[in-house]
Amino acid sequence: MQNHPLHEQALSLAKCYLHTEAALIDVLQKIQAQKVFLKLGYASLFQYCVEALKLAENQAYTLIGVSRKCHEIPELQKAISTGHLNASRAKRILPVVNNDNASLWIEKASTLTQKEVERQVAATNPRLLVQERVKPRCEDRSMLVTGISDSHKKKIARIRELEAQSTSKPCGIEEALDAMASLYLERKDPLEKAARALTSRQVAVSTAPAIQNKDSSKRTAIPAQIKHSVVNRDQAKCQFRLPTGKLFGATQWVDIHHVQPVSDGGTNAPENLVHLCRSHHHAHHVFEKQRA
Ligand SMILES: [Zn+2]
Ligand SMILES: [Zn+2]
Repeated sequence: MQNHPLHEQALSLAKCYLHTEAALIDVLQKIQAQKVFLKLGYASLFQYCVEALKLAENQAYTLIGVSRKCHEIPELQKAISTGHLNASRAKRILPVVNNDNASLWIEKASTLTQKEVERQVAATNPRLLVQERVKPRCEDRSMLVTGISDSHKKKIARIRELEAQSTSKPCGIEEALDAMASLYLERKDPLEKAARALTSRQVAVSTAPAIQNKDSSKRTAIPAQIKHSVVNRDQAKCQFRLPTGKLFGATQWVDIHHVQPVSDGGTNAPENLVHLCRSHHHAHHVFEKQRA
């Protein structure tokens, strides 16, 4: 290959780039293990990567996915730290690589084309043939892509029949999804249940009775009435305050936490209950334990 100063410069920068990427993957593993992002007020490693490190979402996704796998598979860790494999190549084999087949898949990922690796990965797991996604097409209209099994297909067909029957109108997949979603939310969403309880019984946090556990060390289920009032008050959102004072407000994987632990005589009174997402809830109990 002919020497060219720009080529030399590009070579050296690319080497540096790959070295930095490997080092970042390594440090992200340590941040994950020590939950450093929680101490800094971020609920997830992903949020930390995007907001604190200013990485693009897909970059964060790749680096986190690869760093988690490296933690499980030392051979993959070695391939990356020695520069044999870069993160975007490693990402392609994440769904299939394990400690038994690592050498084989690392070799494929580092030598085959992206298309060929994707084809071979999908062949081992047909679920990977269709990538789930929701793609916005215009305002209030998106395209949903998902793979489904034969059994899902049969269930949806039956729902379309039943929905068509009850509405006397043809039912497409969109209408079937809407009918399923509405029924599910009505039955399972604590927010909807609490809103219904509020209108039917006018339960308010201030009027809900404070239930004292008879045996203070024993955990009893939170009475439905109190649960509804706490859900209405917090809107089932994580009540953790970020260092900026802003409410964290996550709505996924949210638990009700006892401010004063039940083992210390904490009750199911609404003022002793608060919604926390799993990350903040877990971190709270871990830090409490460390303090004790
Ligand atoms: Zn708790
Ligand atoms: Zn939270």
